[in-house]
Amino acid sequence: MTGYPKLSIKKGREWHILRGHPWLFSGGISQAPKKVEPGAIVTLLDCDGKFIANGYYNANCDIAVRILSRTANQPIDRTFMIERISAAWNLRKLAFNFEQTNIFRLINAEGDFLPGFIADYYGGVLVVQSHTAGADTLLELFLQALDEVVQPRAIVLRNDAAVRQREGLNVEAPRIIKGSLDGEIMVKENSLNFLVDPIRGQKTGFFTDQRDKRAALAAYTAHLPYGASLLNCFSYTCSFSVYAVARNLRLSTTNVDQSQPALDQGVKNFELNSLALDSHEFINADAFTFLEKQILLGTKYDAAVLDPPAFAKSHKDKPRALKAYSRMAALGIQIVKDGAILVLCSCSGAISLDEFVECVRQSAGASGRAVQLLDTFQQGADHPVNLLATEASYLKVVFCRVLD
Ligand code: SAH
Repeated sequence: MTGYPKLSIKKGREWHILRGHPWLFSGGISQAPKKVEPGAIVTLLDCDGKFIANGYYNANCDIAVRILSRTANQPIDRTFMIERISAAWNLRKLAFNFEQTNIFRLINAEGDFLPGFIADYYGGVLVVQSHTAGADTLLELFLQALDEVVQPRAIVLRNDAAVRQREGLNVEAPRIIKGSLDGEIMVKENSLNFLVDPIRGQKTGFFTDQRDKRAALAAYTAHLPYGASLLNCFSYTCSFSVYAVARNLRLSTTNVDQSQPALDQGVKNFELNSLALDSHEFINADAFTFLEKQILLGTKYDAAVLDPPAFAKSHKDKPRALKAYSRMAALGIQIVKDGAILVLCSCSGAISLDEFVECVRQSAGASGRAVQLLDTFQQGADHPVNLLATEASYLKVVFCRVLD
């Protein structure tokens, strides 16, 4: 066994970890090591003193331990990191043709068996986040191994995610820790060009979790006639619209977001793909207010995407978030024409696909219109989920057709 401080688990609280769940909650601890720093590596033992796993421990958190390895004699060192990162890199090589798509999540925390770590790959540049004290402890090791396996031309550390505060960590300004960057970088997703700003962009700069949904929308709208309209609410840098218009130049789009920098980048994304701007609008507004106003005016679209930020950041926000999703679905159902495709998204981890579909069902029932469920999606192969910890499956996207 490795020589880490020992932490004993209460009898009966070890079985889910033995099955592969990556967390031990504070209530499951029978004896914890004293005087260890938040984020220290510990060895978990069952009530008989038998090895269960190595993980990192933060006494200040509900999720007290996150599991790193279930192999008794495997230290958490360079070899461990190289193995985990290589396994993640190999999955992305399987999932993507890098000639067409050179932007994806490379490390998805627990989903890639590296809890607390996020690394997004943007055309040779890595954008890294650490969300926990344990990930901070291991950050140097992680960065060195990433550099070795991926050989990026630059690495940006973006420890500006608010989630860090849950572990008592500072929220820091983004900084370049390897190489240099002059502004935005150009990347390719499904052979379309996009600009990403890894320093100033939201989250790490781009939402790669919507890649397959963008392609699916573009397929549904590919045959709409001249002048048909797509409403893209919470558009960020207009990627849904770029996909749809690149496949169907007859479309006109209305892109609504409350971030002007995101809309400005959206305009550039149209231009980068040689798409004329004349039949596209970029509106800086609150999407809910915009939708209500257009519904009053009687404006209706041939297709609509509503992809808001997470309404529930934790379980306690759930009731309020469910109401907000129902309201969003109700507005979506009213804003589209007979026969239109409506895409509704939720990136709230606390809300399940069934709960989200129930919000849509209730709004459909109250709308007086018929709504067909066409397809549901999750977050894609570069955001893998440990099947024993499906709470990490945060994204739910529902494709519907709305009929009078
Ligand atoms: N669909 C996008 C990602 C959307 S992220 C893509 O595929 O890239 C959510 C977006 O909602 C962000 O751009 C944020 O600026 C915007 N936003 C948040 N609250 C908003 C509001 N009330 N009205 C309009 N936009 C909002």
